[in-house]
This record gives sequence, structure tokens and C-alpha cells, in this order.
Amino acid sequence: MRKRSVRDLDVAGKRVLVREDFNVPMQDGQIADETRITAALPTIRYLLNQGAAVILISHLGRPRGRIDPGMSLRPVAERLAELLGCPVSLAPPGAGEDVEAMARQLRPGDVLLLENVRFQPEEEANDEDFARSLARLGDLYVNDAFGSAHRAHASTEGIAHFLPSATGLLMERELTALSGALQDPRRPLAALIGGAKISSKIGVLENLLSVADEFLIGGGMANTFLLARGMEVGASLIELEAVHVAREFLEQARRQSAPVYLPVDVIVAERVAVDAETKVVPASAVAEGWRIVDIGPETVRRFGDVLRRAGTVIWNGPMGVFEIPAFSEGTRALARILAESPADVIVGGGDSVAAVEQAGLADDMAHISTGGGASLEFLEGRELPGVAALDDMEGAA
Ligand code: ADP
Ligand code: MG
Repeated sequence: MRKRSVRDLDVAGKRVLVREDFNVPMQDGQIADETRITAALPTIRYLLNQGAAVILISHLGRPRGRIDPGMSLRPVAERLAELLGCPVSLAPPGAGEDVEAMARQLRPGDVLLLENVRFQPEEEANDEDFARSLARLGDLYVNDAFGSAHRAHASTEGIAHFLPSATGLLMERELTALSGALQDPRRPLAALIGGAKISSKIGVLENLLSVADEFLIGGGMANTFLLARGMEVGASLIELEAVHVAREFLEQARRQSAPVYLPVDVIVAERVAVDAETKVVPASAVAEGWRIVDIGPETVRRFGDVLRRAGTVIWNGPMGVFEIPAFSEGTRALARILAESPADVIVGGGDSVAAVEQAGLADDMAHISTGGGASLEFLEGRELPGVAALDDMEGAA
């Protein structure tokens, strides 16, 4: 069922608690990348324009339940104030009486940022009393932190039981794109899966078996599939214990008549290093001692043909060791094809998104998921606790 959206709430004159994902990368006390802050702005601006006072909640880093000034959200409060063009006050740690007093004084249009919620051990423990004291700070709860929704913490899950709740605009966009692709995709639906290991993606592969029409498998995990089809892969990354998983997957896909495309040619290197010698070889002719580091040009052509025909593409996992420029061409070439494609293209996964951003193509994709681990769990068909706890469209209040 669809979750209630912040747009369905009457927020004027209310104090609205918003769980954000302000877990930005920091370097020497400076924000190294503010993407997550800018992504949060639409919901915050919407609420302020509607006459709400806004209380923002986020974690930053892993302070493990202790107050660590190095992980204070102060730099985020300062940057947010600049971006919003209004003051953003930072509360002291916790959700005690001092914070409650600050919250009570808020007027429509005011913005208060709570200090790093993971300074309290009760946050990750999803402590009920802590969730209750967070809930006491406001009248309504909005969750816009899709990237934290796979964690059942006090500020992502527990709190939703004590207040009328809804998704923020960013969360709503994520859920619409991801559930649309899984539940009602424009067909054919092609799953483009790569990355290092089968073992970390088996949940995604198995869940997509029930919805995707065709599979394109690249990256390190393709090596184990090649093994399963009886090929030699030299010194490439492999998971011997996952060969049977690959075999079962291929068998199941065959039973469903879902084609599975594997690399037909690959880039091999003697070492996984910037200055390594490389060559293009057929996937069936990887010599001893050589490592597969990317898909080859013929594979790009074939995968490209399938992707160009697709109505929907779910992409998770780079096609090669894209961190090294010489091994990133397969990933980049497919990213270019998808950027030009009219298909509903969903890119999920931390490294996949990084690869697309590195290629400068993020703005050209239909949907780049901000979720990382949360996107993967969603693609695995798992219910995200931070989403499940939110009120349904027909929910109470
Ligand atoms: P995501 O974060 O998008 O879910 P993964 O974490 O599963 O993706 O995979 C990304 C990693 O896979 C990258 O670090 C990349 O170097 C690695 N990788 C891709 N292809 C290969 C390969 N052929 N051999 C070794 N590692 C690979
Ligand atoms: Mg990754």
C-alpha cells in the first residue's frame, strides 16, 4: 500500500520532526560532499512554505553512543542555514528537557537541528523511551532518510509509533521509483548486475528472478558465472563456494525462459594496478595468471543492444574495477547508453552510483537511488523497517 506523503499532511502551525540523512563525508572538519544536504532541501522548504516549524534529526558517522565533538552536526547546521537563507539552530545532544524547551519555542518558519542522534546509545538500540522523548518534541513525523530506512533505530522506526507520520519528498520519490520498477515495470525489464561478489548480491538476483525479463551479468561476479558455465578465468576474483549458486540461478532463469547474458569478451590485466599491462580476450580464453578487470567491447555492444530495447533497467554493480580508469570503460560505456535511453533506468548501490557520478551522467538517469544499503535491501524484496513503520495512505490521524 502507498505510504502517506508529507503532501497529504496538514502541517501549518505544526512542529514537524523530519528524519534526514545528513551523514555527509567530512574531511578536516569540512563537508567534503554536500549532495545529501541539497537532496534534503525540497522537503524542508516545502514544510517551511506551508507554515510549519521544522525539527531536523540525523546521524553523522559512527560515534557509537558517545558524544564526540568531531562528529557534531554543527557544520551541517551552518551550511544548511546558508542554503535555506534562514537561521538554523543546533540543539545540545539528546532529547531531554533542554531540547524540549528549545522545540517548544519554535515558531512557523523556524528550523532546529538536533545534535547527532547517534551520540545516544538508545538510538541504535531503538530504545522506546528515547523514541518517545524524540516524539515529544513535535506534532508530526516525516521520514526523508531513505538511506537509513533499512535500520530499525529510534529516530527511523521507533518514533513513528508515537506520532502521525509520512514520507518526505525524497523518500517518496525513492519508493515510487523502486517499487514501480519491481511491481509495475515497463517491459521488458532488464536487470544489469555487476560488482565484486555473488555472495553480496544473491538476494538481489533471486528477488529479481521473479520480476525481470532478462539478466545481464558483469563485474567480478560474472567470473563465478563463467566458471559455472565451464570456463577458466585465470587468476580472476572468484567465489568457489558460490559456483553452485550461480548454477542454480542459471537453471532457474532457463526454466523461466529469462535470458542471462554473460560477458563474451573481457579486459584482462596481469595485476589489478594502474600501470598493469592489459588486453582484450574472449571470455573463454583467459590465460593462467591473468585477471578479468572489465567487460570487453563486444560485450558492451551486446549488452547495449539489450539495454536499448528495455522499457525498464535496474542497474546494480559496476562492470569492472571502475576505480582504476583503465578498467572503467565497460561501466562508462553502459552508463552512456543508459543515460541516452528513454527507459526507466534505476541505478542503486553505493559504488554503482559513484561510477555514474564519476562519469558525469547522474543527471541523465531516470532515477539514481540515494539509498546504498537501503536500495539493495529494497531490491532484495525486503521490507525496510523505517518505511514499514510509517502510516499508510489510509492510516490513522
Ligand atoms: P554496489 O556498491 O554498487 O552495490 P558492489 O559493492 O557490489 O557495488 O561492487 C563494487 C566493487 O566491485 C568495486 O569496488 C569494483 O572494483 C568491484 N569489481 C567490479 N568488477 C570487478 C572485477 N572484475 N574484479 C574485481 N572486483 C571487481
Ligand atoms: Mg559497494
